Amino acid sequence: MAHEMRTPIESGCPDGFQYMHPVMRKNYGQWAYHEDPQPGVLLHVSHNGDKIWTVRAGTQRILDLFTLRKLCDIGDTYGEGYIHFTIRSNIEYQVADEAKVQPLIKALTDAGFVVGGTRNSVAMLSHTQGWLHCDIPGTDASGVVKSMMDELIDEFKGWNMPNRVHMTTSCCQINCGGQGDIAINVQHTKPPKINHDLVSNVCERPSVVARCPVAAIRPALVNGKPSLEVDEKKCICCGACYPPCPPMQINDAEHSKLSIWVGGNHSNARGKPTFQKLVASGIPNNPPRWPEATAVVKKILKTYKEDAKDWERINDWIERIGWPRFFEKTGLPFTKYHIDNWRGARASLNASTHIRF
Ligand code: SF4
Ligand code: SF4
Repeated sequence: MAHEMRTPIESGCPDGFQYMHPVMRKNYGQWAYHEDPQPGVLLHVSHNGDKIWTVRAGTQRILDLFTLRKLCDIGDTYGEGYIHFTIRSNIEYQVADEAKVQPLIKALTDAGFVVGGTRNSVAMLSHTQGWLHCDIPGTDASGVVKSMMDELIDEFKGWNMPNRVHMTTSCCQINCGGQGDIAINVQHTKPPKINHDLVSNVCERPSVVARCPVAAIRPALVNGKPSLEVDEKKCICCGACYPPCPPMQINDAEHSKLSIWVGGNHSNARGKPTFQKLVASGIPNNPPRWPEATAVVKKILKTYKEDAKDWERINDWIERIGWPRFFEKTGLPFTKYHIDNWRGARASLNASTHIRF
């Protein structure tokens, strides 16, 4: 007997069109041009003459209910009831009436939100989950973002940079986040410490062994119990073994540091993708304000602002002046830790563009 097919359960994200401002929906794909009337405001003009203004304000990525309600109330009272969030945690309000733009900005500013983040500003730092709801972070991404954006507020509000600056944070060394003009990433500097009493109860050893990108983990018997051992000469301290096996503790108050990478950029219509390069390592992971990491970021931004030509992104600027000049101009020390002399990649990492099955 033929079985009746089960209907699929739709659990993906809902169709975004239903939430769009009607003017955006009507003119989808029909925009003639856009302008930037002032920091934090965009104007889009359609081929048929329709206009829509967008007001952008920064928010924390992880919003509490009360703040979210406040933001929505502002949208209902001063906007036209339509909002959306950008991937960098900015909230955007759309209005089709120019007269609503300034009262909306005032309402946001009076409520303590900062309007900006458009064109050649430092956009809101994007960040990963951090301590709030991930199980492997070595630092708190939200805290780093808050401390840095407090110091960069004028760069968010103004158009002071040669081009836009996107920054990211990543709270472990292996997973989400960490790609931008400037990226602040966790850097583990010591191999994991293994709690052998727990390994056999908690970890599926073959999957932990398989997880290591450089084949540094082996099954071992320790004190008569099945456990794991790490070849510390091979270990690159990436932390990839920690999520499947928490007894391989890699987070450490002293040895988990922050590193800063610059020059990452996605490809676009004009340029190829560029990879980030490490420019500062071993920065103390120092909550609650992370002053050392913030100082390095500010130093890079100041030099970029003074030295880059208009429209150069950070990677364009460094490509023009060269990496040695980058270190000279920023005053960041170039140390042995900046040299990638790890040769295991040739044998163990998938370094070619061929797809293998
Ligand atoms: S970057 Fe790592 S620690 Fe942070 S949220 Fe993503 S997986 Fe978790
Ligand atoms: S930290 Fe990374 S390299 Fe070192 S043992 Fe764990 S998975 Fe392997």
